[in-house]
Amino acid sequence: MDHKTVIWQQPKAESDDRDLVQALWRGSKLHCPQCDKGKLFTSYLKVTPTCSECGTDYTPQRSDDLPAYLVLFIVGHIVVGGMMSAEMHYDWPVLWHMVIWPVLCVVLTLALLPPVKGAVVAMQWALKMHGFSKYPDGDDQPVLRPVETHNDALTRPSL
Ligand SMILES: [Zn+2]
Repeated sequence: MDHKTVIWQQPKAESDDRDLVQALWRGSKLHCPQCDKGKLFTSYLKVTPTCSECGTDYTPQRSDDLPAYLVLFIVGHIVVGGMMSAEMHYDWPVLWHMVIWPVLCVVLTLALLPPVKGAVVAMQWALKMHGFSKYPDGDDQPVLRPVETHNDALTRPSL
C-alpha cells in the first residue's frame, strides 16, 4: 500500500507590512498612502483608480458614507460647542448667530471632507480591507496549499 503525506504550507509572505498611522497621515494630506508622492484624488472627492507614481490600485476602496458621518460628528461638536459657548459668554445679536454658525458649518464640512475621506481610504488600504489584500477574500491569511505528497492520507497541520 502506497502512503503519501500532503504537507500544507503557507506561501512565502512578502514584506507587506503597512503602517496605519503613516497611512492615515498621508491619506489626510490627500497623498497616496503607499508612496506619499502620487495624488489620492482626481477631483474634489473622486479617488484615483491607480496611483500615478507607484501604481497602487485604489479601485477596491469602499469609503461609502463613513467620511460624511465622521465630518458630521466633528463639525457638529465644533459648531454646537461654539454656539453654546458664545451664548454663555457673549451677548451676540441673534442675526450674528444666524449668519456665523451656518456659514461655519458649510465651510468646515467642505474643508474636512477630502482629508477625512483620504484618511478613510488610507485606513482601508493599511488594514488590507476589501480588495486591498493580496490574498483572496480580503483576508490577510494566505490560503494553505499542498506542496508535497508522500502517502494517501491528506493531512493538515494541527492548529
Ligand atoms: Zn503611490
